[in-house]
Amino acid sequence: MNRESPENQTQSPLVDRFDRQVNYLRISVTDRCDLRCVYCMSEDMQFVPRSQLLTLEELYRVGKSFVDMGVRKIRITGGEPLTRRGIMQLFEALGGLDGLEDFTLTTNGTLLGRYAKALQKAGVTRVNISLDSLQQERFKRITRIGDVKRTLAGIDAALEAGFKRVKINSVIMKHRNHDEIPALVAFAEQRGMDISFIEEMPLGETGDHDRGELYYSSQEVLHDLQPHYDLIATTESTGGPARYYRINDSDTRVGFISPHSHNFCDHCNRVRLTAEGRLLLCLGQEHSVDLRRVVRANPLDDEPLRQAIIDSMAIKPKGHEFDLNAKPVLFRHMNVTGG
Ligand code: SAM
Ligand code: SF4
Repeated sequence: MNRESPENQTQSPLVDRFDRQVNYLRISVTDRCDLRCVYCMSEDMQFVPRSQLLTLEELYRVGKSFVDMGVRKIRITGGEPLTRRGIMQLFEALGGLDGLEDFTLTTNGTLLGRYAKALQKAGVTRVNISLDSLQQERFKRITRIGDVKRTLAGIDAALEAGFKRVKINSVIMKHRNHDEIPALVAFAEQRGMDISFIEEMPLGETGDHDRGELYYSSQEVLHDLQPHYDLIATTESTGGPARYYRINDSDTRVGFISPHSHNFCDHCNRVRLTAEGRLLLCLGQEHSVDLRRVVRANPLDDEPLRQAIIDSMAIKPKGHEFDLNAKPVLFRHMNVTGG
């Protein structure tokens, strides 16, 4: 993969009405998952029938069109991306695209033992692994069915595989796991990993999980860490919405993804493709374009697809309007959108 400096990005046609350049595509390759995290899914999820998913070849066509038009970063997510059959084909194909500089994966880690080496070889540069607790019982309660040992083994496999960076993602919930914040940072630091704390977002109904009551702000997380760590604010970015702090005398960065307490929309550079081929212009709004229809109507010609992507820039909204205490405005769960 060519990881040289980008060609002049100002020539990219992917600029929205607010002059924001879109250079980052997240692709959700499946809405299915081998876990059922309480903030992400309900227990009885209805998944999209497999026949409605974009094929791996179609996902590649969309990804390539974006890269041809100036996208430099692709993140593969889901659902749990590594549960999709044949998924390595897509990693290998996208990993070979000239112009793609940053090729990343978000995973719950359960299958990294099997795939980490092959992913690194395919060109994946960085991996984010979700881990909300180090404690067996608690991990199980949060994921409903998970085994923390499996995720920890996945993290070890990722570290051994030699990615440029491995990061932990933790969603913090009051009285569920907020007392583990320093332990999670220590875990990341001992292994030379970064860690990001995510404020929960109101995406989809998730059963009796009360988001308003469990809300724990990034400010509170930072406050809890200050007695333990010397944290220095940095302007570093990994191309996403996280704000970072460095731990003094360490390689580890502590990130905060704070849709409620620190709205990140002004600098949004992202769009998302669902596994069904719906291009979402904002995580927190329903503005979208059906790219599956365009891809299937033009199996041999990518020009209409490219035009549909360019036209979609006109409907990218200014920002999300998340409100944890209201009913979720969206029926879409995070596993459909891809985190
Ligand atoms: N299954 C993979 C995983 O868990 O990393 C990838 C998909 S998951 C939807 C991506 C990220 O979204 C995870 O870090 C997860 O913790 C986060 N997430 C899921 N639901 C969320 C919500 N309602 N609010 C905030 N983050 C959420
Ligand atoms: Fe699955 Fe990831 Fe959602 Fe948890 S957060 S249920 S691992 S998709």
